[in-house]
Amino acid sequence: MIAVMLFAFNRFYTSFFRENKPLRYYTNPTYCLYSVGSYMYNSFYKKEATLKQIGLDATKEEGATRKLTIVVVGEAARANRFSLNGYERQTNPLLQKEDIINFSNVYSCVTSTAISVPCMFSNLGRQNYSGKEAKSTENVIDVLKHSGVNVLWRDNNSDSKGVALRVEYQDYKISQNNTLCEDECRDEGMLVGLQKYVDAQKGDIVIVLHQMGNHGPAYYKRYPKAFEKFTPVCQTNQVEKCSAEEIGNAYDNAILYTDYFLSKTIAFLKQNDQNFQTSMIYMADHGESLGEKGLYLHGIPYFMAPEEQTHIGALMWFGSQSKERIDIASLEQRSSQEYSHDNLFHTILGVMGVKTALYDRTKDILTYKHQ
Ligand SMILES: [Zn+2]
Repeated sequence: MIAVMLFAFNRFYTSFFRENKPLRYYTNPTYCLYSVGSYMYNSFYKKEATLKQIGLDATKEEGATRKLTIVVVGEAARANRFSLNGYERQTNPLLQKEDIINFSNVYSCVTSTAISVPCMFSNLGRQNYSGKEAKSTENVIDVLKHSGVNVLWRDNNSDSKGVALRVEYQDYKISQNNTLCEDECRDEGMLVGLQKYVDAQKGDIVIVLHQMGNHGPAYYKRYPKAFEKFTPVCQTNQVEKCSAEEIGNAYDNAILYTDYFLSKTIAFLKQNDQNFQTSMIYMADHGESLGEKGLYLHGIPYFMAPEEQTHIGALMWFGSQSKERIDIASLEQRSSQEYSHDNLFHTILGVMGVKTALYDRTKDILTYKHQ
């Protein structure tokens, strides 16, 4: 009965429970018993899982121009709200002016941030993915580190979900680090001072920027006022109080802000194009439901998840020196093929020219003019 009731009032409860997470525990009378058990287990019985290292054979190619790649992890940005993918509204005015390659057919590992982010950087793949194994196994960030690449993770979302535990990590959700905070800290703030970091490094660099992006349900909070192009917008985190149009408008404005943020990221790479082979890889962690089939937000189990939650925004940009190495014509031809988060592990290794037995050339989205 509870399930039927929840489903019937899904519009109200998805945002209500999301905004009031502790309530899930208060309303469940057995939760305190479970907590006691889990506390005892963790305190007295649980053995620390040993970390399985991977890619210890990783090496960089010698003598090449230095490489600088920015990987942007988007948040809840679904593909069909990008004008790059044919959305009738102009939500990508700045990216459309850039020489980018848009991937129109990319699917997420799962539909929640907590699992999708570690899955994106792991080499387990969606089919074999297990949270427990991912937690106790290194990921592509660690492999880069083994090869000698400098890695920095800047986060304006919740955190790296365990991906960046062994590399330099900076929290950009707090105003001590992020200089662009209004009601909340802006994604653009992650670019401030980044040049200083780049200038201080020797060798190749990978920077991961984890966006706040389109984190729901309060889409209207995700962008500065100047990006409120589509109106009227839903001004509350209780989606049941807004019309479909108001929710959609707020969501689209947040995509518009991501368009601006990515174009700023590209501008940053252009500044460094003289000294580096520069690249940007953008992929969202999952999509988002905006009321289709009565569903909101995300997190539906994969086997029954609607396309809106799994079909994600994804694009890449390459600087002039990278284009000498990467076969852009072939990439453009293949840009509407189906790809997934499973490709990211190998694409990052490929673009950085890291050699390891783990690298699977067939899963790298990119192809190279000379191997
Ligand atoms: Zn997410």
